[in-house]
Amino acid sequence: MSTVPNLPKTYRVALIEKKDEPFKLVSRDLVPPKEGQVLVKVLACGVCHSDGIVKHELMPVLPRVPGHEIIGDVVAIPAGEKKWKLGDRVGSGWQGGWCGTCSRCLKHDNMTCENGNINGILTDGGYGEYVYLRTEAVASIPKELDPAEAAPLMCAGITTFNSLRHMDVKPGEIVAIQGIGGLGHLAIQYSRAMGYRTVALSTSAAKETLAKKLGAHIYLDSSKVDQAAELQKLGGAKVMVCTAPSAEAIPKLLDGIIPGGTLLLLALAGDIVFPTLPIISKRIRVLGWPNGTAEDGEDTADFSKLQNIKCMVERYPLDDVEKAYELMSTNKAKFRAVIVPGLVSTPEMGEMKDSMAMKTPMMASDPPMAPKKKGLFKDGCGCM
Ligand SMILES: [Zn+2]
Ligand SMILES: [Zn+2]
Repeated sequence: MSTVPNLPKTYRVALIEKKDEPFKLVSRDLVPPKEGQVLVKVLACGVCHSDGIVKHELMPVLPRVPGHEIIGDVVAIPAGEKKWKLGDRVGSGWQGGWCGTCSRCLKHDNMTCENGNINGILTDGGYGEYVYLRTEAVASIPKELDPAEAAPLMCAGITTFNSLRHMDVKPGEIVAIQGIGGLGHLAIQYSRAMGYRTVALSTSAAKETLAKKLGAHIYLDSSKVDQAAELQKLGGAKVMVCTAPSAEAIPKLLDGIIPGGTLLLLALAGDIVFPTLPIISKRIRVLGWPNGTAEDGEDTADFSKLQNIKCMVERYPLDDVEKAYELMSTNKAKFRAVIVPGLVSTPEMGEMKDSMAMKTPMMASDPPMAPKKKGLFKDGCGCM
């Protein structure tokens, strides 16, 4: 094994031991990484709605350290590790590894691996000073990116970037983005940067300034106009990116899509009832998209750096994990709560956070395996 100098003997993590109980800060022994793992010093970890799967034990995974939006540095590698080196800046998202031998992996679709690992759900995640990550689930991250701003890119960023880049859209064609929350904020930025005519759809005038600042060419407020009709006047959307989890609003947007276009579902909106006539007569695809692999995470981070696409974050030390989780789960974080273990909690933390963050906005993504318990997350991704 190789390690950086002066590694501590122990490290702290924020653990959920029992369902609905507060996080417990516990100390663990820092042991060498096993074959196929790297040990990463956590620089930042986003707090996501999907972490509620652990907090509320929606899957039998306790005790567990949550966190699947991880940015950090490699500080220990096992003997024989060929890809990763000490000091590498890395990230890891929802997908925490794949088996390489199941039928999906043999089809090179690792994202849908039948035996896939999930960071912070099936294995301990990034709510801690250090984390052990499987090597195939680790992405190389440019050191120029602010770790706290980059952390949520490993979830919401991959979801929006990776889905949009796989759509059949030509530069200049219309991409409409419904919802200007976590996913939507990023989708607007990515759509603009990819060269699409970007239309932001929201339910009030409140986010117009923000949407345009993020890159939207046009803003359609459903309290004032019929969004689908307005989109048709513009020529119709080639892709309708649905990021706000409204089972009522989404079907109405079908009429704003051009023939052969796609309704892209990124947020969990429960059961949606669609009229079949426009889908059949206009050959509309209704498509979902989960997240992505480590390679997709690398591409997301590189593209975000290239195009200066950022997330607005509030930073919290590990000691304030409960507060960070509470702000996220009540949608009060502006806009994304990120745990930064290197921060020290002080009475002046509020002022410190204000002065340290806030550039451009961002929020949460919800990956494929999402909570189904009614009421807990309202409409799935409650951050919108
Ligand atoms: Zn997430
Ligand atoms: Zn597999």
